[in-house]
Amino acid sequence: MAYKDEQLSEEKVFKDPVHRYIHVKDQVIWDLIGTREFQRLRRIKQLGTSFLTFHGAEHSRFNHSLGVYEIVRRILFNFENRPNWNNDERLLCLCAALLHDLGHGPFSHSFEKVFKLDHEDFTKKIVLGDTEINKILRRVGKGFAQDVADVINKTYENKLVVSLISSQIDADRMDYLQRDAYFTGVSYGHFDMERILRVMRPMEDQVVIKQTGMHAVEDYIMSRYQMYWQVYFHPVTRSAEVILSKILHRAKYLYEQNYRFKQKPTHFLSFFAENVDLEEYLRLDESIVLYYFQAWLEEDDTVLRDLCERFINRRLFKYIEFNPNQQMTEWMELYKLFQAIDIDPEYYLVVDSSSDLPYDFYRPGEEEERLPIHLLQPKKDELKELSRQSDIVEAISGKKRTDHKLYFPQDVLEQLPADRPEKARIFEILFG
Ligand code: ZN
Repeated sequence: MAYKDEQLSEEKVFKDPVHRYIHVKDQVIWDLIGTREFQRLRRIKQLGTSFLTFHGAEHSRFNHSLGVYEIVRRILFNFENRPNWNNDERLLCLCAALLHDLGHGPFSHSFEKVFKLDHEDFTKKIVLGDTEINKILRRVGKGFAQDVADVINKTYENKLVVSLISSQIDADRMDYLQRDAYFTGVSYGHFDMERILRVMRPMEDQVVIKQTGMHAVEDYIMSRYQMYWQVYFHPVTRSAEVILSKILHRAKYLYEQNYRFKQKPTHFLSFFAENVDLEEYLRLDESIVLYYFQAWLEEDDTVLRDLCERFINRRLFKYIEFNPNQQMTEWMELYKLFQAIDIDPEYYLVVDSSSDLPYDFYRPGEEEERLPIHLLQPKKDELKELSRQSDIVEAISGKKRTDHKLYFPQDVLEQLPADRPEKARIFEILFG
């Protein structure tokens, strides 16, 4: 039997708190899970610094990747024998679902920003490069690894396949919303996925939803909207992220200044040089990053030491609402005041902005272009775009919301002697 068709003699199951069980029958899927590149995802947290806000949020990218695989497996089970669906693409969908986040590194968000990395780029390198994953995909068939990379990259020719893994209602989002809600313990993020899976239909170039499933989809869109503002963009999580980014900046800066580290940043050198090869990338996981932060508590550099101490012991920055576009004068004055009291504003006065688009109708050519959700009408094959049918979705669709915060070490400011003139002025600007 061809490798691509090989089945395990007995089905394997993973116990999962969100989907109850994750079922594996294909030998290829089982082999992929066993690779070192996939096992590495156990050491990368799904929600980065969110565990400092929601202590339950310690779940890994490994959990999430298995979850996305399981959702796609269930969708395809319902698609079998339906028109527009070719079951030859089943294994491709399952592999792409399982591997879609393979290139995520430790605390991806901050690392990508500071070192100008792109996890999608690394996913591609792992799928196509000299890796255990690639060996397995090559065994499946000629061009298969490339197909998997194309699906993840959204360039695969069959857009129906792509839409299962990345669209505005895809297996990726459906898994992370429920999983992140479960592990953070919030009451948002829940929706009736069973119902959505039942009303999904394959069309020529996309997955659509039967009109009768509209309310389940509304619930899903609202749950995504709430998760973004209540969990993903939580200001305390962002405070931890600000500090993490500043640690990386400081370590890079010190390295460039030939500072003599007690704990040399060996694992970071290619990151500092912005020239990271795959092997080095795969070697760096969150345990190693935290090891360095712990070790750097002994450094002579006060900024690096202090920032690490803040991250490790959760002494985060406080924040206020602050719009840099409208409050430039205050910003400049604060910057000078911080310099005057010897607190480096580059590290200790940070504006952070987050924004999200809850749902979008089709806008060709714009960044983050995503296909809208289409509802399949009872009358054969007629499609209507979701925001034209749903008042709830219409109310939030296409509206980008942005939130700006200013972060600073309030504890340090409070300790300034009362007679320093800068102190009163800083507090006046920050707190009015
Ligand atoms: Zn994902």
